Amino acid sequence: MKNFEPEQFRQHFPLIYKNRYINSGDESLLSIIYFDNGATTQKPNAVIECLPAFYQNINANVHRASHNLSAKATKAFEQARETVKTFIHAKSNKEIIWTKGTTESINLLASSLGKKVLSSGDEIILAVSEHHANIVPWQIIAEQIGASIKVLSLDAAGRVDLNEFDTLLTKQTKIVCCAHVSNVLGKINPIVDIIKKAKAAGAVTVIDGAQAIAHFPVDVQKLDCDFYVFSAHKMYGPTGVGVLYGKEALLDAMPPYQSGGEMIKNVSLNKPTTFNSLPFKFEAGTPNIAGVVAYAEAVHFINQFDHDELTKYEQQLAQYCFQALSRVPTVKFIVEGAPDIPVIAFTIEGHHNHDIATSLDSYGIAIRSGHHCAMPLMEYLNISGCLRVSMAAYNSFDEIDYFINTLIKVIQQEKENSLGEVTHKTIHNKDTESNEIINKFSKIKSWDSRHREIMLLGKTLQRMDKGLRNEDSLISGCESLAWVVVNKSPQGTFSFQADSDAKIIRGLLVIVLSAFNGKSALEINAFDIDSFFEHLGLIQHLSPSRGNGVLAIVDKIKILTQ
Ligand code: PLP
Repeated sequence: MKNFEPEQFRQHFPLIYKNRYINSGDESLLSIIYFDNGATTQKPNAVIECLPAFYQNINANVHRASHNLSAKATKAFEQARETVKTFIHAKSNKEIIWTKGTTESINLLASSLGKKVLSSGDEIILAVSEHHANIVPWQIIAEQIGASIKVLSLDAAGRVDLNEFDTLLTKQTKIVCCAHVSNVLGKINPIVDIIKKAKAAGAVTVIDGAQAIAHFPVDVQKLDCDFYVFSAHKMYGPTGVGVLYGKEALLDAMPPYQSGGEMIKNVSLNKPTTFNSLPFKFEAGTPNIAGVVAYAEAVHFINQFDHDELTKYEQQLAQYCFQALSRVPTVKFIVEGAPDIPVIAFTIEGHHNHDIATSLDSYGIAIRSGHHCAMPLMEYLNISGCLRVSMAAYNSFDEIDYFINTLIKVIQQEKENSLGEVTHKTIHNKDTESNEIINKFSKIKSWDSRHREIMLLGKTLQRMDKGLRNEDSLISGCESLAWVVVNKSPQGTFSFQADSDAKIIRGLLVIVLSAFNGKSALEINAFDIDSFFEHLGLIQHLSPSRGNGVLAIVDKIKILTQ
């Protein structure tokens, strides 16, 4: 095992390493400061190279054929299971089920375990800070069975409240679901106590380890949880691979989830089909074989380094970033105290999260804004969303310095922009306005200048009367609040009024509306927003999607005008 050396560790990640320009002094080189590791991590060379090597050398289906290639593929696939078993200290390979990711692992549990242990009137306890993936599958099964969900709240620091847990836990509680670490708050929940108490009450425990697994060693036998789920892609592995760990006796007693392929023992049209033993009973169909093999490489990669040192370094990053953010006067943390893993959530007073995140992106800094798939948590904290910085062991103190300095600059620029002169434009001439915008953008080359131009355009948008901002005009699917109303002329062409609480969305509204103003329903329906954004040179950074609001705006306009 090697000592953990941050700079040496970083060199394994080509996407991170080749974009390390922050100290080069060359302003024309845009660095990528990747602080969105909670969503997915970058991949080391060992994982990247494993995928083509698998397809070039040993590709075959697993467990099925009697030929040599299939035997090689099966061996690599089953060795990967052994690697993961050892990594999380499970008792047996039978306890490691391959899935597509955390979400699929929880869906499997909700469906299969839910059917096994829940009856009408039973209760499931889950924390208010859970990711949607650990809420919605339970809501669906609870509704089907007539069970109910009890919600566990948090203490001021953002960890689940153990006192409240004592009052929620009853004889009716059959399943307790809790994230080891919330993907927004970065605090380690007291799951050892939760598991002990749940066990004493006869309830089964499901721990969502999607965030925890990437940051510190996990021992499922020491935890004594019944189930532990996580995704490969959040711990330097490929996308499309996940793990469901479960105690063998429980998995054995559960009915199959999906059927077909590898999960059967015997199929007959005349007598009942019988199912394969663990772990195959839960692995219907051809799995992501190359992904599983590449995932084992990610685990070997982590295992090369002293895991405690890696965790310690990440905690130092978390502390450093938290302290630096605390010194920025308008930063408000959404819960009290420093995080346990390098995931920090905050808002900036007086500014929309989306505006700050897109401005930072124009300086090459990738952080996340929005509800982070934790809408109940946002509601509980009475915020519409927040910013999240989530770091990994390849991030550096230099990057944090660059991020903090840029954040301070961006907040200042946002303030200055709000004070500037505003000229409202009302152009209803078909094509004139969009041509003007295309001309303007064609002269600007860099993303940060284009971003500035979008923000300036946003200032030209006439604010909408508050009375018009209602459920009917709301653009749903956009992460910020945005509204649009349509006016139809006697000639059958349309003009629009629109608004948003985010400046970047106001700028995007000006751009999108310029394409639609003065057009007929037919022309609007036929309009290709992708090629418009291509013309504008925005497709690379603002490729129309629901996340940035562009598609949601376009869909709403199309619905309103048809
Ligand atoms: N649970 C938590 C705590 C997460 O952070 C995530 C992803 O962000 C998920 C579940 C869902 O993971 P996946 O999308 O890999 O299935």
